[in-house]
Amino acid sequence: MSNLLEVYKLSKYFPVRSGLFNRKKKYVYAVDDISFSVGNRETLGLVGESGCGKSTASRTILNLLTPTSGEVWFQGKNMFEMHPRERRKLRQGIQIIFQDPFGSLNPRLTVERIVEEPLLTHGIGDRISRKQEVEKTLSEVGLLPEHMKRFPHEFSGGQRQRIMLARALILKPRLIIADEPVSALDVSVQAKMLNLMLRLQKQFELSYIFVSHDLGVIRHVSHKVAVMYLGEIVELAPVKSLYATPLHPYTRSLLSSVPIPDPHKKNRKKVILQGDVPSPRNPPPGCRFHTRCPECMDICTQKKPPARQIEDGHIVSCHLHSAGEIWSPPAPDR
Ligand code: SF4
Repeated sequence: MSNLLEVYKLSKYFPVRSGLFNRKKKYVYAVDDISFSVGNRETLGLVGESGCGKSTASRTILNLLTPTSGEVWFQGKNMFEMHPRERRKLRQGIQIIFQDPFGSLNPRLTVERIVEEPLLTHGIGDRISRKQEVEKTLSEVGLLPEHMKRFPHEFSGGQRQRIMLARALILKPRLIIADEPVSALDVSVQAKMLNLMLRLQKQFELSYIFVSHDLGVIRHVSHKVAVMYLGEIVELAPVKSLYATPLHPYTRSLLSSVPIPDPHKKNRKKVILQGDVPSPRNPPPGCRFHTRCPECMDICTQKKPPARQIEDGHIVSCHLHSAGEIWSPPAPDR
């Protein structure tokens, strides 16, 4: 698969001032030196506990937050180094769906107006063609023409998430970043939404970055998975390889709480992590996971583990796997 999106050494630090006269400048290391790529018709699952930097990474990729450093290449173009007008045009190709279907839709606008809005913003079509496009897109996500004149509060959570999906789809994007798109929904509605997203992926040749804290959901939709902890990617692997042989102790602990959907196989032994996630304002030295890692060694408290490729495409940052070859992300084609 050729790469549609390349995220290269991307960081986002938020400055915070403290001390006398607010002079001391510190940083919240929300996203720290992350790299990955997403191919055409491919889904990358971005997983980790809340506060690990997944959502900040998504917003920085879209330039909704100004990056501290790094590059994002979309369709062979560096998004951070182009004229804002050109970037705005290219951004039509990347859309985002937010987690909260209740808070993300303007309660004063009809569904027709909400879904039409991206077309208006980009000056696409006239009144009649826009209306036809809205109707067509709503039917793609399983909503009816009579829903157009209704307001968001008249819909269930699942239907609102479909409205958000229609709003993202109307610009015919190549990539959708879905930030916890099903976590606010009931389990039965979650399954319908996930299946709809998979169908739309085939139909429109879409790629997704699927952000979630739920490894069960990630497994269902992803081709490859990046596991984030405290702003860093600690493991990146094809989905089969990650679920068959998780290498990082953090990934193993996350996976241990996911039931295996096979009655003949035993569930994994539960690994309960001690303590809370440290503050990204003051990340621990060495391996950032060492304060909670059940397999922590002396070296882990002092030396940051480099990323190593253990097998084809399976990359991990952990001193337990020092036999692998050191891995650097390939620089995007300039
Ligand atoms: Fe645990 Fe050490 Fe590996 Fe970090 S480097 S995950 S502390 S074993």
